[in-house]
Amino acid sequence: MTVENTSRIDLHTHTRASDGLDTPAELVANASRQGISVLGVTDHDTVDALAEVQREADAAGIALVPGVELSTTVGRGEVHILGYFVDPRDDALRDRLRELANQRIHRVERMIERLHELGYHVDRDAIMAEAEEGSVGRPHVARALIDIGAVADVGEAFDRFLKSGRPAYIPRDPFSPEDAVRLLVAHAAVPVLAHPYSTKDIDGTLDRLVPVGLRGLETYYAEYTPEQHAALRRIADGRELLPTGGSDYHGAGFREGRELGSAPVPDEVAERLFDLHRSLGRRT
Ligand code: AMP
Ligand code: ZN
Ligand code: FE
Ligand code: FE
Repeated sequence: MTVENTSRIDLHTHTRASDGLDTPAELVANASRQGISVLGVTDHDTVDALAEVQREADAAGIALVPGVELSTTVGRGEVHILGYFVDPRDDALRDRLRELANQRIHRVERMIERLHELGYHVDRDAIMAEAEEGSVGRPHVARALIDIGAVADVGEAFDRFLKSGRPAYIPRDPFSPEDAVRLLVAHAAVPVLAHPYSTKDIDGTLDRLVPVGLRGLETYYAEYTPEQHAALRRIADGRELLPTGGSDYHGAGFREGRELGSAPVPDEVAERLFDLHRSLGRRT
């Protein structure tokens, strides 16, 4: 693996605590190898990896930004909200995340039932075991479909079965992006709109979320083009939002365009994020 064209900052990564492939130790070792000095770990709806990631990051001399990525629904679409500087020892936050994780288990069980009805006998126990009591989701179901030879890869699993409108798709319980932002604000975290082009209407979404406490816009998302980075930067600057960035790494080769350290995040972003965190801490 080359280290060219990589940034020393990556604020959007996943571990096995949600649907990533790396353990905390593997993620930190890979980050170290890539020359990353500021690492954000943002598992879906769980902070379970963060204590171990913190120990590994301390040992490796990497500054960890402990985070989470909350999945919310707007109509038939999804909006993801990143929360930076969550405290993994915050029991009230963990309780709320546990509820979301339980909803995930229930949803995945219904997807498995649906697949069984369709004649695709994915292994329920293997799916749940792979998730290892972390945050189970559609990628785990996709891997089970690969295991039984129903599909060739994760992309085909989503396209044929798992994405909205496909036969094994089950919608989430409603959890609005406003609720996610408020939850993060209540727990002294910095809420950021993830991969903004996933939403059809960025300005409308920001109109809703900035008033309830959104503080940043994921501007330097690895999969986006330089033109998109520039357009998002203009929006972030115009609304005085922090322009963050990251790769959305889930493991080597998990998905093209999402390799660790592949997002062009400027150095000033980390400084501004740490400053923002410090200023929030002073106010409470
Ligand atoms: P879930 O949280 O269970 O709804 O699953 C969402 C996860 O599925 C995200 O982390 C994405 O990385 C992954 N995902 C969503 N759509 C696709 C797709 N079309 N192909 C591959 N992975 C996808
Ligand atoms: Zn994911
Ligand atoms: Fe996301
Ligand atoms: Fe993500």
